[in-house]
Amino acid sequence: MSGNNVVVAVRVRPINARELSRDAKAIVQVHGDQVIITAPFTSPRNGRRALESATKTFTYDHTYDSMYPDHSSHASQDKLYQDLGLGLLDKTFAGYNCCIFAYGQTGSGKSYAMMGTKEDKGIIPLICEELFRRISSTSGAEITFNVEVSYLEIYSEKVRDLLNPANKTNLRIREHPVTGPYVEDLSKLVTPNYCDIERLILEGNMRRTTGSTNMNEASSRSHAVFSILLTRREMIAGVDTEFISKMSLVDLAGSERVSSTGATGLRFREGAEINRSLSTLGRVISALAEQGTVRRPELASSMKVPYRDSVLTWLLKDSLGGNSLTTMIATISPADINYEETLSTLRYADSAKKIRTNAIVNEDQNTKMIRELKLELESLRARMTTSESVKTNDMLADQLISIVRPDGSTQEISKAEIAARVEQDTKLMQELNLTWEEKLATTRRVQEERDKALEDLGIHLDDVNLIGLTTPKRIPHLINLSEDPLLAELLIYTLKPGITTCGNLSSTAEIKLSAPSIREQHCSFHNIDGVVTIEPIIDATTMVNGQRIYKVRNLIRVE
Ligand code: ADP
Ligand code: MG
Repeated sequence: MSGNNVVVAVRVRPINARELSRDAKAIVQVHGDQVIITAPFTSPRNGRRALESATKTFTYDHTYDSMYPDHSSHASQDKLYQDLGLGLLDKTFAGYNCCIFAYGQTGSGKSYAMMGTKEDKGIIPLICEELFRRISSTSGAEITFNVEVSYLEIYSEKVRDLLNPANKTNLRIREHPVTGPYVEDLSKLVTPNYCDIERLILEGNMRRTTGSTNMNEASSRSHAVFSILLTRREMIAGVDTEFISKMSLVDLAGSERVSSTGATGLRFREGAEINRSLSTLGRVISALAEQGTVRRPELASSMKVPYRDSVLTWLLKDSLGGNSLTTMIATISPADINYEETLSTLRYADSAKKIRTNAIVNEDQNTKMIRELKLELESLRARMTTSESVKTNDMLADQLISIVRPDGSTQEISKAEIAARVEQDTKLMQELNLTWEEKLATTRRVQEERDKALEDLGIHLDDVNLIGLTTPKRIPHLINLSEDPLLAELLIYTLKPGITTCGNLSSTAEIKLSAPSIREQHCSFHNIDGVVTIEPIIDATTMVNGQRIYKVRNLIRVE
């Protein structure tokens, strides 16, 4: 069978303070391309059984031992990028679609590998840096590049645009025979340089943690998909040609099972929905893995892969089993207390090795798509008018009509469906026909909306420091209001000049906290003439440095 296997890498992060405080021991070892895990002894009674299956060895395409930062064998962020990111970037420039996705339990290092920190950048920012370096060294009169990015989040089967605050509602996933599945109205922003992309990533990441009403849940239970669309324009034999390739960088939701977090009742049902994308991903991967081992291609193609069962798998259909070069980074904790989850991740990664994709160079896709859409539109419109003239009766609106696709296949659809399809095609055509100037204008408009939305949230963006997730220098702020110890991200609420309100999740307050004792209107912060005070609403328990306060209290004077 032709194609490329999904490249699978496993990375072990350092043991963390929380694990150490629970006396956890490291039970994972990395030797060459092998990862060896030893079952912890739980009790003397099942000691013998544990001993029998005590160690398990798995082999992967790449392994990264990042357990001991001081060791010579320590795998740095740069090493991951050099091994996994750079090669795919080459392929993106050559016109292939690529995908990297990070899989692992919450806190195992997915976001660290993908995004990293400001001091120790992960694969996504490192790829973006090199992308622009290469564009500036390759561009010339004959060849130009354009970069557009989109950033979305899937939470509880709903798709949210992380780059455009005006896109408040769920975005719809649509499908089209010409384009495949896509997110309707998702903003694709033109980014001419690295700084712009860095800022978009930061803002997107902030929206990921601050935009949702239930931050703790959303940050570990949501999937984030960052996509880079690279358009190369080149004069080939005097003809203006465009090649478009897409790189999808996916930070998946924590892979831990809902049951293991002890959720029950309503929470459990919600959890099932939240995890639908992840559990479907599991089924898709095993179906694809099975397909990958079938020798006869005609048998493999007849096997059903349940892409359509969840938003994530539907969107990543191509990245998982189609036209894409795909790499999976499985991240694990070395600690014995995470044995079950780690073993499950290692098994998952093991089965992903068998998946084969079929990457092809995307040739002048835009022009081809426009041509095909045009043809389809013409034939649809023709169908609409002929059927109109034949019957004036509305009863016949759902009469079936056959249309012939550009590839020669026929499909029966109703008149109402044709009308809907014409609308969809027209919208797609308009998008494909947009000039770069028009796209830039949209990008600028969205940027203004983003700035405004962040301001409303009480978040300040500093051009030099990009604030990121470091604490802003001269702006009074609150940090880490999350009661969830698993939440690794830092939450910052800046106290803007004027009043900032604080209340529970169902309130309209600017700072929303999720604890039973938090009132709808709980307290407010006043930043007036450089003096910040806090005022509790009557009866709402509010403490400053461990002491309950009953009236306005000065907090800080801003120099
Ligand atoms: P996830 O996204 O899988 O929930 P994170 O990437 O947020 O997990 O990692 C959890 C914590 O562990 C973070 O504080 C992160 O900085 C730290 N961490 C993860 N991987 C590494 C690594 N390879 N080296 C050092 N610290 C790491
Ligand atoms: Mg994360």
